[in-house]
Amino acid sequence: MRRGKNIDEQRKEDGRISDLYGAFGCNVGDGWFEVIRGLCRDITDAYGKAGLPVDIVVDQVKEKFGTLRFYYHPEGYDSGIHAFDSLSDGHSIRIMPGVTDLHKEIAEIVHKWEKESGNVCGKCGTAGKLRKDLSWVLTLCDSCYAHLHKK
Ligand SMILES: [Zn+2]
Repeated sequence: MRRGKNIDEQRKEDGRISDLYGAFGCNVGDGWFEVIRGLCRDITDAYGKAGLPVDIVVDQVKEKFGTLRFYYHPEGYDSGIHAFDSLSDGHSIRIMPGVTDLHKEIAEIVHKWEKESGNVCGKCGTAGKLRKDLSWVLTLCDSCYAHLHKK
């Protein structure tokens, strides 16, 4: 959201929502609730240890190639999503020039939890694994996988 304007004001004045989270938001299954919660807790803890206020803005939370993507940017930086996603292993590298050590730590936390999402069923939250033989790559437990595979 643009500072000083709510979503309705942005829509009315600009004809669109200028922040990515407002436009796309959180678009993942309920199964990753604890993954996202852990990610946010670790980020909050890292800022707390550093004695600094959280200064990142979440742009978009989504599933891509079967695992979680948590896109964000530090305040004051371009809000564009700087990511190169690899099809082969589902991991991604974010390019953010000039970031602080704390922001590097945040990037590592995000990477760790994105990777962890590959072990958690995106539908129900129990232990899952990456399923590449469906029409869409997903991380699912055996039960959710069997249910989808039958269709
Ligand atoms: Zn499941």
